[in-house]
Amino acid sequence: MELKICHLYPDILNLYGDRGNILCMEKRLRWRGISVTSEGVSIGQPLNVSSYDLFFIGGGQDFEQEVLLEDLKTGKSNEIKAAVDDGKTFLAICGGYQMLGAYYKTWDGHQCDFIGALNLYTVGQKERMIGNYAFTCEELPGINVVGFENHSGKTFLGEGVRPIGRVLSGSGNNGEDGGEGARYRNVFATYSHGCLLPKNPALCDHILTTALAAKYGEAALAPLDDTLERNAHQYMENRLLSKK
Ligand code: GLN
Repeated sequence: MELKICHLYPDILNLYGDRGNILCMEKRLRWRGISVTSEGVSIGQPLNVSSYDLFFIGGGQDFEQEVLLEDLKTGKSNEIKAAVDDGKTFLAICGGYQMLGAYYKTWDGHQCDFIGALNLYTVGQKERMIGNYAFTCEELPGINVVGFENHSGKTFLGEGVRPIGRVLSGSGNNGEDGGEGARYRNVFATYSHGCLLPKNPALCDHILTTALAAKYGEAALAPLDDTLERNAHQYMENRLLSKK
């Protein structure tokens, strides 16, 4: 088995070490003897979505998101939309999450028309939503995800898109409806930056299983020794949810 990862705009959407999530996916595949390659595709470079199984899009500030708009219009928007519709697996974070939606209206009034692969939109506000936070994951009952968010955009989901889970602490999608992230087909989108997957190994394996199953029909990952990962997860969960 093999997974081919495409890192979209690695030099532009690169906040908080979001790239570490690719390293985590690579490690967890290789530790199980599964081959993996990853390749960056940025501004001006052609994107052939059929060459890849899993797409990663990190976060970026409003400025960087605006920089990408012209490049998306050169055909990448259509390619990415087709990949989503075709059941390719995506992990998109914060600015990358917003980019998969219909539009982002920044707090100072700029309208960024985005890819429209997911029925959602984002509206900025002056006050940012910042901090460590925790949320449930509908597909991983009993496991809470711990993460870090920093965004001014409030995202609202439309019909056909459901949240990854419910916010237990922090703001999540918009600080209003209690939802965090978006799930549509094989897309996982979240506001959680940085070391999301290293400290949430169950979520990492769930995303990898989704990608492998989409490619090979079925997939079961062998268990790993996750003592360190679970300790990191537990530490943050205790801090956020005051579990003793
Ligand atoms: N520019 C977006 C916002 O502030 C995304 C920021 C980010 O990716 N951290 O809402």
